[in-house]
Amino acid sequence: MFKRPVFNNTLLNWYQANKRELPWRETSDPFKIWLSEVMLQQTQVITVIPYFKKFITKYENLDALADADEQALLKDWEGLGYYNRIRNFQHAVKEVQEKYDSKVPDRPEEFFKLKGVGPYIGGAVQSIAFNNQLAAVDGNVLRVMSRLNRDGRDMTKASVQKDVKHFIEKDMPLEAGDFNQALMELGATICTPRTPKCVICPVKEHCEALKANEVMQYPLKKKQKAKQEYYYNVYFILNDKDEILLIKQEDDLLKGMYELPRFDVDTSLESIEEKYDLPLSQPGAPIGDHKHVFTHKIWYMEGYIVYTANEHENFIPLKDVKTLPMSVAMQKMINLINTAPDSEL
Ligand code: SF4
Repeated sequence: MFKRPVFNNTLLNWYQANKRELPWRETSDPFKIWLSEVMLQQTQVITVIPYFKKFITKYENLDALADADEQALLKDWEGLGYYNRIRNFQHAVKEVQEKYDSKVPDRPEEFFKLKGVGPYIGGAVQSIAFNNQLAAVDGNVLRVMSRLNRDGRDMTKASVQKDVKHFIEKDMPLEAGDFNQALMELGATICTPRTPKCVICPVKEHCEALKANEVMQYPLKKKQKAKQEYYYNVYFILNDKDEILLIKQEDDLLKGMYELPRFDVDTSLESIEEKYDLPLSQPGAPIGDHKHVFTHKIWYMEGYIVYTANEHENFIPLKDVKTLPMSVAMQKMINLINTAPDSEL
């Protein structure tokens, strides 16, 4: 185990001198800090920057986001993925608006009860915005701690993560927010997964893995499970009024997002007609395809154009399609129709 508080001071000094300039580091507004942490979950800093700037311009305070139209919010979030994050965030800020007079609670026990606030978001926001003595343990921090302590336990286990959190909190310096950010910054810029820059690492004196010349053995790597593959036919169902059939999603993960009808490749045309109660023309050759890689799965999609003469409540004018919130996978499919003969969005 490495020695603190020498370690703490060294790391904090390094952070003050070397931290990257990021837009959410220029604010002390708890709402904006919270928004940035919600965006940064599962998403890279470089991707988040333009979204964060757009959001704080359009929704400049907690009330503006709480009162926003959900469909407009989802549209603005489009491309960031994990859409539950923004839905939960809006739910939580609405609660803050009602219960706490639009002020983000600075008492952890209140903040942790809000929707979407788990150990990481809770620790990050409470420490950065209010300097509460809580750790914020993300993937970067787990990697750094496993190397510093030469800790061979499985860092994906909740019990191990809890332990790491307690370890950090035990000797947490007063500048808790900066300390958490310093650990994350170290993991993001120096103690990186594949090419750690140990030579210039500010805390190399404290690193047990480096002393043992075993840096790359930590953290323990679990065998990656192969991604599951799914094959779909995606239908552009068009009518003679320049409209297209789009389905508004109801399932939890993509709730509120629009999707083209998507079916397993062996689904018959008859069952699709039955599902939407629409007679459909025979599809021609596919107009294109797209492979979309998610964290744990891969979709292989082929697009087909079919026509119908009947009405359906889910028809949307083609000119409005691009104003609707859609996953990136579906946007890629929608783009296919631009190149298809006789069709234009
Ligand atoms: S010395 Fe190397 S392995 Fe250890 S914390 Fe620094 S960068 Fe990471």
